[in-house]
Amino acid sequence: MTNASKLIALDCGSMYVDESSLVAGIHNGTYRNQTPRAEWVRIPVCAYLVRTADGLILYDAGCHEREAAVPDGADTPSPYVFSPGQLLPERLAQHGVSPDEVRFVVISHLHCDHAGYLHLFKNAQIVVSDAEFTGAMRQYGLRGFGAGPYKTEDFDAFLHAGLSWRLLADGETEYELVPGVTAVNFGSGHAFGMTGLHIELPQAGGFLLCADALYRADNLGPPVRVPGLVYDSIGYTRSAEFIARYAKKRNARIIFGHDQEQFDELLAEGGEWS
Ligand SMILES: [Zn+2]
Repeated sequence: MTNASKLIALDCGSMYVDESSLVAGIHNGTYRNQTPRAEWVRIPVCAYLVRTADGLILYDAGCHEREAAVPDGADTPSPYVFSPGQLLPERLAQHGVSPDEVRFVVISHLHCDHAGYLHLFKNAQIVVSDAEFTGAMRQYGLRGFGAGPYKTEDFDAFLHAGLSWRLLADGETEYELVPGVTAVNFGSGHAFGMTGLHIELPQAGGFLLCADALYRADNLGPPVRVPGLVYDSIGYTRSAEFIARYAKKRNARIIFGHDQEQFDELLAEGGEWS
């Protein structure tokens, strides 16, 4: 039994990154090629909206437009690029949704391309891993974030917004938001604590949104390939194997966080499933 009626992929633009941050060692040198070139690749920035009989659920909160500011000659490791209409609040508006109407926001982790507009969701319950909240907040409080993937401006905004948080404790693997839609605590890996979302749709069946717990299909393998940007490499492999088992048991389609090829396929399918 599921109360979910529709899953909608929200295309929120792209980022450019060095491919070795997605898959560690993907361009390792060899005897024949001792100085391989780095590859600068485009990856999608996305969020997902779930319509249910019990209200709206959002998975991830986009990337703030300020991340697109790339001064001439700046050494920006992962600039954000977007077209008009691609920012998360605009995408929601295109679907007739105001942030005030969203009942749950599940945040995979608090990196800037996933939590950029979190401060707008003042009426929602914000679901995030306790380990992620605590680890990132500790860093924010002690020394700020510098040039890393967490952004001080995001934290300033959402901490001052008076949000209602629901933290998933270590060992609390599942939290059912409404019948058929469940937040899944993947544990540490890419960041301090990663959270996925399992959705059971009446016709299209199961989807498991993983965000950066698996950037791309080649991270899942087998064998699992750890990304270059990783907080806990042992936890990463453990969570990747957990995701594979979880999805198999529920016959769910695994949706990767930044897989351009898969995201193009999702959009080609219409970007909506029911
Ligand atoms: Zn991330």
